Amino acid sequence: MTARVLVVDDVIQNVKLLEAKLTSEYFDVLTALNGEDALKIIENDHPDIVLLDVMMPGMDGFEVCRRIKANEKSAHIPVIMVTALDQSKDRVAGIEAGADDFLTKPVQDTPLFARVRSLVRLKVLMDELRMRETTGENFGMSMESNPSRDVSLTDARVLLIEDYARVAERIGTYMKDLAIVDVDNGASDEITGRQDLEKYDLVILSLGLDKIDGLRLCSQLRSSEHSRRIPILVLVDEGHTDQLVKSMELGATDYITRPIDRNELLARAKSQIRQKRYADRLRRNMQKSIEMAMTDAVTGLYNRHFLSSHLDTLMGGENEHHRKVSLLMLDIDNFKRVNDTYGHAAGDEVLKEFARRIRGNIRNIDLAARFGGEEFVVVMPEGNTDYAYYFADRLRKAIADEPFEISGSEQPITVTVSIGLALSGEELSSSNKLLVAADEALYQAKQNGRNRVCCYKDQPAPE
Ligand code: GH3
Ligand code: MG
Ligand code: MG
Repeated sequence: MTARVLVVDDVIQNVKLLEAKLTSEYFDVLTALNGEDALKIIENDHPDIVLLDVMMPGMDGFEVCRRIKANEKSAHIPVIMVTALDQSKDRVAGIEAGADDFLTKPVQDTPLFARVRSLVRLKVLMDELRMRETTGENFGMSMESNPSRDVSLTDARVLLIEDYARVAERIGTYMKDLAIVDVDNGASDEITGRQDLEKYDLVILSLGLDKIDGLRLCSQLRSSEHSRRIPILVLVDEGHTDQLVKSMELGATDYITRPIDRNELLARAKSQIRQKRYADRLRRNMQKSIEMAMTDAVTGLYNRHFLSSHLDTLMGGENEHHRKVSLLMLDIDNFKRVNDTYGHAAGDEVLKEFARRIRGNIRNIDLAARFGGEEFVVVMPEGNTDYAYYFADRLRKAIADEPFEISGSEQPITVTVSIGLALSGEELSSSNKLLVAADEALYQAKQNGRNRVCCYKDQPAPE
């Protein structure tokens, strides 16, 4: 995975060293010697990740980080702070400034590549989600978009997998203000099968478990449906570099070395939980936008766009059994009069109730869509004219026989519908031809006096 890394440090030797290391691993490297230049480069060259020195004359690293995170164009770029001393105070300050991670000077290869890769992987995912969110917006969806990554950390839940009771207890105490921590000693094989894993915002996993291989567990958590989206923070013993590298390759999102520093643990846990909740929110928005892109806002039925592609699928190669399709085109009679008499809002109420009655009368396999204004389509994946006609007429009665209650009128109003029916076949072999035929039949129903069902010319209605 190649990525563009921006290295920021006021000491040229440090910049050169990091540049050399990263280039040797095929990263594309940009450099800056002060905060101002760094911000300009970020604006113009869109790096995938920033390695930021804390101590710099003028604007220090914390300030640069704050500005990156405050700008909605750059807030999504991960920032790794590079601190001169192993100062947990600096680390905490960095995370508070919005940093995603930190490294200690002199920078060691293993943590450098592990952290850069892990954050780049995360960014690739986030970019994809953000892109889809943009697509949703272009579709005309209003998304609850919030580039500041401002997510609430309340009611966080953490699953700690650790078999050393004293350590588990200490970690629980460290974290008590941040999250509810459930402890599992990892002894049962069942962890990854647990349905309730989804409630956790974070898994903290010891790699030094007695009964089970922590690395295997890490890989299982990554592939299990209930836990694949949960970040994993692994606990490694000092010096167990191989294990650490392997766990990051297997999908751990972060690590912490024993002995565990309380502030570092809290800072890392917080940052992981925040990322998780942000990603969840993007995903939820996307789901909503997909639903909205398929449905009509007023009636909740499928929209014309969805109907067209569904009909193409039904009539195309994917319909392996070449089953026939019946299509009803419905148009409310004299609907303009409802609007003119009772107002547009009342008209909308009629549309909603109309849609509700359609929905209440179709089967699961039938599909109802709003085709346009007061026109609707019902598709039945079954080519039986008798049944389709019977069904259409039942639907017509369901509309005409029970007047509609609307808020603008004391008296319920009578609404009727005209329906055109067409059946796919040799002549009507494409979705477009089928729609045109049903529309012709509908026109006939209007001509013949409305409130009736008409079949396409050569497809006679049953006696
Ligand atoms: P016909 O029996 O020939 O179908 O007569 P009609 O009045 O139903 O048909 P026409 O096409 O003349 O008028 C349709 C009306 O539907 C006009 C338009 O203002 C109204 N309409 C379309 N979409 C909406 C909507 O979303 N809400 C409301 N309230 N009215 C709508
Ligand atoms: Mg009409
Ligand atoms: Mg019309």
